[in-house]
Amino acid sequence: MDFELDDQTRLLQSTVREFSQAEVAPVAEELDRTKSFPYALVAKMGELGWMGIPFPEEFGGAGGTSLQYAVAVEELTRVDSSVAITLCAHTSLGTQPIHLFGTDEQRAEWLPRLCAGEILGAFGLTEPDAGSDAGNTKTRARLQDGEWVIDGAKQFITNAGTRISGVVCITARTDDPARPAESGPEITNLIVPNGTPGYEQGQPYRKMGWNASDTRPLTFTGCRVPERNLLGERGRGLQQFLKVLDIGRIGVAAMGLGLAQGALDQALAYARERRAFGRPISRFQTIQAKLADLATEIAAARLLVYHAAWLKDRGLSFSLAAAQAKLKTGRLAVRAADEAVQIHGGYGYIEEYPVCRFYRDAKILTIGEGTDEIQQMVIARALGT
Ligand SMILES: Cc1cc2nc3c(=O)[nH]c(=O)nc-3n(C[C@H](O)[C@H](O)[C@H](O)COP(=O)(O)OP(=O)(O)OC[C@H]3O[C@@H](n4cnc5c(N)ncnc54)[C@H](O)[C@@H]3O)c2cc1C
Repeated sequence: MDFELDDQTRLLQSTVREFSQAEVAPVAEELDRTKSFPYALVAKMGELGWMGIPFPEEFGGAGGTSLQYAVAVEELTRVDSSVAITLCAHTSLGTQPIHLFGTDEQRAEWLPRLCAGEILGAFGLTEPDAGSDAGNTKTRARLQDGEWVIDGAKQFITNAGTRISGVVCITARTDDPARPAESGPEITNLIVPNGTPGYEQGQPYRKMGWNASDTRPLTFTGCRVPERNLLGERGRGLQQFLKVLDIGRIGVAAMGLGLAQGALDQALAYARERRAFGRPISRFQTIQAKLADLATEIAAARLLVYHAAWLKDRGLSFSLAAAQAKLKTGRLAVRAADEAVQIHGGYGYIEEYPVCRFYRDAKILTIGEGTDEIQQMVIARALGT
């Protein structure tokens, strides 16, 4: 076993860390407060080659590993979750389906611009009646004169409605409505470019956190895309998207890890500065115990996340490890943000302090890309229950 990051990964880690401190930290509070999408930061991350870290160089990606991707996401989230989820959803969910299931033509058409960060990719799975139960999709697509005609709605979709949003990959039922119920729905993935008539993005949601990231409902009304926009195999859409989500969990787990580490960074710095009863509060044992527990849990969580990425990079089965990493880090992020606010006292409740934003940003990590309960199902199944 080798617990050392290799030189390339360490270099990426320190570069993303410097970028996060120098470029993201100074604007994170304002972007959150004004609910402004971080266009300038996305453009810079595109120039730096970070909008396509794990994709092949021949398609404009950085040719990096899953571990490198996880380390980059961790470092960004340590400072700001909105910027991190923008990169993470674009990479793991928006670009990944085309990379995994696209034809050579589809890859050549979309990946270079996605990897450069020129356009953003989105992933349209969730619907009003299909979240955890993703197979209950009601969006329909029927073939007519060489085109798919799509009708339906998606909700809570990240990155679909910005000025640079370029494409969404969706699930849709493509079976005949008269198909017998016992055969189950035929679900297929389709590529829908932004700007296609009949594809509309609704107003952004008013969210608890991730305020600078873009999340909207989508509607498809007689929306027509060419037959060649079929992504992967007809009827394999749900299985394909579940595979994408498996990979995506490594990224979201890296976000939980990064948020927890960022909360600890803030809490530790504050505890050293803040004085009460004539000494820094970091001298009180109860405060020390909180910091020590967090540092220990973060170290354990980091092993889970890096291990899941390591398994994937070696072509080994990583689904269980990714689900465990996601379950552990989501909960840890919520707890770390809570403890960090507690250590800040009343100041932690005030928006000028990053821990206030971290507290609001943390909760979604136990919900998005498979709730904790769904991770528990995945893990229990792997145990043979
Ligand atoms: C900010 C944000 C961004 C998002 N971005 C995207 C995106 O880009 N693309 C996308 O497709 N989706 C996205 N989502 C949707 C997200 O993935 C879903 O909200 C999530 O999967 C849960 O689905 P749901 O909200 O329908 O909850 P439900 O599935 O209705 O779950 C409600 C509760 O029931 C529990 N539950 C459900 N089924 C079971 C079961 N079998 N056993 C035990 N408990 C169960 C759940 O764990 C949860 O606690 C986003 C959501 C948010 C809030």
